[in-house]
Amino acid sequence: MSVEPNPSAPVFLPSDFIRDIVAVDVAARRYPKIVTRFPPEPNGYLHIGHAKSICLNFGIARENNGQCNLRLDDTNPAKEGAEYVESITTDVRWLISGWADKYLGFKPKGTTPVARTINGKVDYYLTPAAPSLNSEPFFASDYFGPIYEFALQLIKKDKAYVCDLNTEEADKYRGAPNQPGKDSPYRNRSIEENLDLFQRMRAGEFHDGARTLRAKIDMTAPNFWLRDPLLYRIRHVPHHHTGDKWCIYPLYDFAHCLSDYLEGITHSLCTLEFSDHRALYDWVLESLGLPRPLPHQYEFAKLIPGYMTVSKRELLQLVNKKIVTGWDDPSMPTLSGLRRRGVPAAAVRQFVYNTGVTKYDSTTDIAVFEHAARDVLNKTAIRRFAVLRPIKVTLTNLEYGEVIFCNAVNNPQGETPTTRKVSLTREIYIESDDFAENPPPKYFRLRPGGEVRLKYACIVKCDEVIKDVSGQITEIRCTANLSTRAGQPNAGRKVKGTIHWVSAAKSLDAEVRLYDRLLSVVNSNFTQNVNSKLFEAISAKVEPYLKVATADQHFQFERLGYFILDAKEATPVKLVFNRTITLKDTWAK
Ligand code: ATP
Ligand code: MG
Repeated sequence: MSVEPNPSAPVFLPSDFIRDIVAVDVAARRYPKIVTRFPPEPNGYLHIGHAKSICLNFGIARENNGQCNLRLDDTNPAKEGAEYVESITTDVRWLISGWADKYLGFKPKGTTPVARTINGKVDYYLTPAAPSLNSEPFFASDYFGPIYEFALQLIKKDKAYVCDLNTEEADKYRGAPNQPGKDSPYRNRSIEENLDLFQRMRAGEFHDGARTLRAKIDMTAPNFWLRDPLLYRIRHVPHHHTGDKWCIYPLYDFAHCLSDYLEGITHSLCTLEFSDHRALYDWVLESLGLPRPLPHQYEFAKLIPGYMTVSKRELLQLVNKKIVTGWDDPSMPTLSGLRRRGVPAAAVRQFVYNTGVTKYDSTTDIAVFEHAARDVLNKTAIRRFAVLRPIKVTLTNLEYGEVIFCNAVNNPQGETPTTRKVSLTREIYIESDDFAENPPPKYFRLRPGGEVRLKYACIVKCDEVIKDVSGQITEIRCTANLSTRAGQPNAGRKVKGTIHWVSAAKSLDAEVRLYDRLLSVVNSNFTQNVNSKLFEAISAKVEPYLKVATADQHFQFERLGYFILDAKEATPVKLVFNRTITLKDTWAK
C-alpha cells in the first residue's frame, strides 16, 4: 500500500471501522482492486455533509491504490436536472483536486454496460477508462437496460411479480412494525403473465401508478424493506439523461445495488438511514446468482455541523424563498458556497478527517470546521492590508506627494517569505476601531497623545483630533517618527500596539462582504432560525496590489480575517471581497 505525500493530508493514516473492514478484505485478496463510489442524486447541490462521503470514498480509493467512481444516481427523473449534474461534477473535482484526482473513475462518454457470459451465466459489466477529453462520470440511468434485463431474470426465477395494488392498498397490505403484512392478491401470477405484463409496462401500455413490479420476498418479515418491496414503477416522465426512452423507472433499492455490481464496486458506503435496506441490497444481488464477487454495503453516521443545515430540502427552500442569492451564495453550506466564500478544499478535507467516521449520529461543533479553515488559511493565505471602516490620519511631517516605501511580508508562514512595497504617504487610513478618544483600560492602539506602530512602517504619535460640527471625528493628525522605520537607528523601539493602514492616495475602493453563520442557533427549527444578519456589505479601502486579485487566491487582510475575491460579482472596475472567516472566534464571547 503506498500513499503519495501530500502537504495538506494529515501525517497519520486515518483509521476507522470501515477502513478496518477494507483492510481485512485487502489482506484476504477478496477483490482484484478496491473500488468505491460517491453516488449523489442530481436533485440539488452538494453540501458540507456530502464532503464527508466524498473524502471517505476517495480516501479509501487513494489509500488502497484503488478507484472511486462519481456516479449520478439519477433514477428519479421528476426532481432531477442537468444543472445539478454540472455543479456536482465541478464540486467533486474541486474537493479532490491535487489530492485524489488520480483515483477518480471515468468512462468514455455514452458507454453503457455490455453483456458477456461467465460460467454459463449472462453478466453485464462496464469497463472504466482512463481520463480523457471524451470521458464523463457514471450515470445510474446508463444501466436502465441491464437493470431491466435483471428484472426479467428475477421474474423468470419467480422472485418478482407485477402487482396491481395502488399505493394506499399496497401500504395497507404491508402491515405495521408489530403486525405482519398480507400477501398481495397478485402475488401468485404465473411467470408468463408477469413477463407479459412487465414487458407491456415497459412498452407504455399502462398509465402512471397502474402497476408496479415487486420483489417476492416475505410479507411477514420483521424488516419492512423485505415485505415485497417495489422494484419498478411506471412514470411517463422524460429523463434528463435518457430522454423519453423509458416510462418505467427502477427504485433506489433495485437500481443501487445493481449499479454497484455493474461498476465492480467492492465497498458501498452510505449513511445510517440505509441500514435497514442492507438486507434488500443483499437479497437482490444474491437472488440473481451473479458470477462476479458481490459488493457489500456499510453504513456510517452523517456529518451534521452546528449552525448549518445539511438537508437538501431546506437548502432548496432558502434558494426558492430568495433568502440567499442561489445555491452558491457564500453563506450557504454547499461546496460551491463554501468555495465562493473562500474556504479552501484542503480545509474542507481536514475538517472532515477531524470529525472521524462513526456509527452514531451527532452534531459536530462548528468550531472544528472554523479551526480547520483558519489552520489551512494561516499557512497559505497571502497577507494584504485593507481597512474596513476607514478613518483618515494625516502624517503632518510628510510632504504632500511624498512616498516612503516600506517592505511588507506576503507569506510569513511560507518556506521562503517574500515581500512587497507598501507606500506610506501623508494621508493614510486606519481602522476607526484602532482609535479611541476615551480608551478603556488596556487599550493599546491609538489615543490622543499616544503612540502606535504602523505595521511595516514606523511609530506615529497622535497630536490632534479634528471633528465636524456634529462632533464626529473626521481626521486624526499625527507625527510620524521616521527614525523608527526598519534599518533606521530607532527601529527597535517598542510600543504596545501595532495597527494596519493603507495609503489614502494609493488605496482602492472595494466592497467587502462580511458573512456570518447561516443559522443563529446550533441545531434548529431551521426556518425560524436563519441568521437575520447573514452578511453586511461595507465600503473598504484596500492596498493597490489587490487590483490583480483572482477568485482562487486566498488573502489574509492583516488583523481582520481571511478574504477572497467574489467569483461572480467582482468586475474589472469593482472589487468585491467575501470574508471567509475572522482570525479568531468572535462567537465565543
Ligand atoms: P436526498 O434526501 O436527496 O437523498 P441526500 O443528502 O441523501 O439527500 P444524496 O445525493 O443521496 O443526498 O447523497 C449522496 C451520498 O452522500 C449518499 O451516499 C449519502 O449517504 C451521502 N450523504 C448525504 N448527506 C450526508 C451527510 N450529511 N454526511 C455524510 N454523508 C452524507
Ligand atoms: Mg439520498
